[in-house]
Amino acid sequence: MIAKRYEPFWKTTPMAQMTTQEWESLCDGCGKCCLQKLADDETDEVYYTNLSCHQLDIGACRCKVYDKRLEKVEGCLSLTPEDVSKFDWLPDTCGYRVLHETGDLPNWHPLVVGSDREMKRQGLNVSHYAVNENTVDEEDWQEHIIKWVHGMPEPYDPS
Ligand code: SF4
Ligand code: SF4
Repeated sequence: MIAKRYEPFWKTTPMAQMTTQEWESLCDGCGKCCLQKLADDETDEVYYTNLSCHQLDIGACRCKVYDKRLEKVEGCLSLTPEDVSKFDWLPDTCGYRVLHETGDLPNWHPLVVGSDREMKRQGLNVSHYAVNENTVDEEDWQEHIIKWVHGMPEPYDPS
């Protein structure tokens, strides 16, 4: 007898029909969306920096005020399935963005692996390069702009 192949929920359930728990579990915990961004005044292009929101526990890559984040930090967003078509501002490794664009999760994703072991091994979260925003003067933030190459940060000068 041939066993029925198990398909995980993210391949079979449209994002809009996922439970809250399923939706939240798509986040791989990389912390990249908690890095500060700078926008070009003329082109509106958005650049990520390696400067993290002050509420990010950098070592653990966890928000210190997750349940109250929207009231504690201006500009913090709650990602919802309704907005998924606008997720192109998220890093190209983000679980939500990858699933929306490809229909599957990357092979290192905690849901695929069963833990964050592979993410950590590949250095895909920000804990090894993020710097608390409060430790750098805002006038120097431009020097902290990065671009990601294969999920890893490289210094970048957009000028
Ligand atoms: S970039 Fe995406 S996967 Fe990474 S922490 Fe933010 S929401 Fe989660
Ligand atoms: S408040 Fe929390 S979730 Fe929002 S940007 Fe800061 S660290 Fe990230």
